[in-house]
Amino acid sequence: MKKLNNYIGGQWIDSKSDQYIDVENPGTGEVISRVPLGSKYDIDLAAGKAAAAFETWKDTPVEKRIQYLFRMKAVLEENADNIAEICTQESGKTLAESKAEVVRAVENIEVACGIPTMMQGEFSEDISEGIDEFVIRQPLGVAACIAPFNFPVIIPFWFFPYAIACGNTYIVKPSEKVPGTMTRIFELLEEVNLPEGVLNLVHGAKETVDAILTHPGIKAVSFVGSTKVARYVYSKGTENGKRVQAQGGAKNPLVVMADADPETTTRIIADSVYGCAGQRCLAASTVILVGEAKQKFKDRIVEAAKSKTTCYGMDETSQMGAIITKGSKNRIEEIIEEARSKGANLLLDGRNKNVGGFEGGNYILPTVIENVPDDSEAATTEIFGPVMNLKYVDTLDDAIEFINGGRYGNAACIFTTSGPAARKFRHEVTAGNIGINIGVPAPMAFFPFSGWKESFFGDLHGQSKHAVEFFTQTKVVIERWHDEWTRKF
Ligand code: NAD
Repeated sequence: MKKLNNYIGGQWIDSKSDQYIDVENPGTGEVISRVPLGSKYDIDLAAGKAAAAFETWKDTPVEKRIQYLFRMKAVLEENADNIAEICTQESGKTLAESKAEVVRAVENIEVACGIPTMMQGEFSEDISEGIDEFVIRQPLGVAACIAPFNFPVIIPFWFFPYAIACGNTYIVKPSEKVPGTMTRIFELLEEVNLPEGVLNLVHGAKETVDAILTHPGIKAVSFVGSTKVARYVYSKGTENGKRVQAQGGAKNPLVVMADADPETTTRIIADSVYGCAGQRCLAASTVILVGEAKQKFKDRIVEAAKSKTTCYGMDETSQMGAIITKGSKNRIEEIIEEARSKGANLLLDGRNKNVGGFEGGNYILPTVIENVPDDSEAATTEIFGPVMNLKYVDTLDDAIEFINGGRYGNAACIFTTSGPAARKFRHEVTAGNIGINIGVPAPMAFFPFSGWKESFFGDLHGQSKHAVEFFTQTKVVIERWHDEWTRKF
């Protein structure tokens, strides 16, 4: 059984933790590795090595720093298939979904290669006679990210390429549910020959997270995960004087107007809800049919859900993979059952279905529920599974009122051919990522990954120019050079 190690200061080393857990392939149930639950010592060691590396890395010219990123892009592209296979075996998603993750990770490296321009300061000459004033951006020191299970490849790339290009050194803490994917990426990245200590990998769970949040040498923390933990990370990290950006959970609405195009809308809705088996923070969860859209779309949507092929992600025919753990599968099934027992109507029940040849895997087939009671878990909490709540309202105003009353604000989408309806929606809805005739409004790497309300704690988001601001501090310089001094030369 492969035991996973940390990568600290350019060396693969054992964790000091004596607690290890099994990592299972969600598609087959097979145990594929063992991961340490982490220790304070591991973070102390990594933060020390990263702090030592910072002393020279910060003064390495930015043009030189980004040469490592160009090489990183090449390594990821050359090994995309290998990374995708490991990601699928560990996360349960389909191979196509894993390959798409590698592409999005590379996009972030590409944008971070533009840091020399993005880091440029501002300059004002002669703010008074002979006096100039300017702003320069300097790195913070050691930064770290804490990642969730559902995008084992991409999420650390929302942060660390920008952080190191800006001159910081870095620690990645992957999810203990999918630790092997980032381990493999770090093995491959050894080819890039980054100076020792610039990029470190530390495995673990709560104890490791707490060590990051309290370590005086770590200046900035980026978190992605559930809202409960995001709130905790934000408050504990800021209490300890760190910059923190913490992306939380979601329960995304998708509104369908009666004038929407039936074929494309139905296909995109099914892809949005059931892609990654619903374990995607931008997945649509509540599909709101407005007015006549109920008659036009309800049956089509159920048919589109039924037609999705659920299978082990390594099988090329699979359109929907597995649920991450048996515990998550049980939780989702309980949420469906509670809604049913409170009066919801199950239009499609994906529970207790066999996926031939993979009886040990954690599968729930596409599920559609209508008339979900407002007080049920299915209505109020993030399900994070292949479950669609179908909701019917009379007007767009009703849909917007419902959406804006929710606690989350990660994404909201509308399908319509009406410009004014789309405009009203994007203007009034309280969510950070808006899709207009788009089912998964994932921002490109040169835009910030936004998020409002309980989906985000902090101010600067991941990716884009926001990342440059998050990973640098500004220094304002005022300087005076009198004419009479300069005349001497
Ligand atoms: P999670 O919150 O359980 O875990 C995320 C990270 O926090 C992991 O690295 C884990 O080790 C650590 N952690 C877990 N419990 C902790 C605790 N009590 N104290 C300290 N650290 C702890 O999330 P998950 O189940 O891995 O991921 C799914 C969640 O992530 C969903 O809620 C999803 O919406 C969210 N997510 C959000 C975004 C976004 O951009 N907003 C993107 C992807 C995933």
